[in-house]
Amino acid sequence: MRYGIRPRKSLGQNFLISGNVLDRIVAAAEIRSGDTVVEIGPGVGVLTRRLALAGARVIALELDRRLLPLLEETLADLSGVEVVQGDALEVDFRALLAERGLTGTFKVVANLPYYITSPLIARLLEEGHPFELAVVMVQREVAERLVAGPGTKAYGAFSVLVQYYTQPASVLRVSRRNFSPPPEVDSTVILMRRLKEPRVKVNSAPAFFAVVRGAFGQRRKMLPSALEGAGLGLDKRFWMQVCEIAGIDPKRRGETLSIGEFGQLADAYTKYHGNPFAGK
Ligand code: SAM
Repeated sequence: MRYGIRPRKSLGQNFLISGNVLDRIVAAAEIRSGDTVVEIGPGVGVLTRRLALAGARVIALELDRRLLPLLEETLADLSGVEVVQGDALEVDFRALLAERGLTGTFKVVANLPYYITSPLIARLLEEGHPFELAVVMVQREVAERLVAGPGTKAYGAFSVLVQYYTQPASVLRVSRRNFSPPPEVDSTVILMRRLKEPRVKVNSAPAFFAVVRGAFGQRRKMLPSALEGAGLGLDKRFWMQVCEIAGIDPKRRGETLSIGEFGQLADAYTKYHGNPFAGK
């Protein structure tokens, strides 16, 4: 690579070398002139360039300082692009945009470094950032978890989190041959479109997620036993009653519950026990 930069595995530096895949990512993000896009990890700027040419105002957040002079050079002819040095797991996205007078919604587009995929997606969702959609390249196994439904091996607390806030869909399967250096796994481009309202209406979102985490924490156990160990202040016998109030068979395991059923269970819990998360 120019500037004598060697890609760092620890930073997930697998650069896309397929123009076709890059075009498909930009198309999936439905870029319209004037859109604000936050790109995580521009690398050498190949995706950044296409986003800008499609009319987006791009804030590209890159952790690796070594890439900054290179990006400055490769993107110099484009307007509406700004490269910011920072860590996507730490940066204050609201401030990043507000400081530039950007207060509306934005899109997230990225060929994500694998090691930050799940914490970054969780962060964007849990912190309530007003992103309208995200189009991200993730390792295939994470993509499967994002879209998984009840009763499948890939279904877990992460699937529920993503599907509570967004409508996820697989856009494109991408073989490792499309990257340099090639990673050890294949990838999938995922589109997550934020729902106007969360998928289910619950009394308390924190209680809902605590119940979901508890149920999947010991996923092979029946609900009352799994939830007893979840630190929610109820023992097994009382969880049996909560299941009954919720109209859910207490012999079931968490991995079989739909998001709607998790909502019923969480609401029955807060009604029965009170909400330990109130005001949080
Ligand atoms: N967008 C380029 C492409 O498609 O070829 C590069 C993608 S590469 C998979 C991931 C990029 O994310 C690298 O440039 C890496 O330095 C950067 N990166 C790694 N960790 C990061 C973090 N925590 N915050 C921001 N960028 C990060």
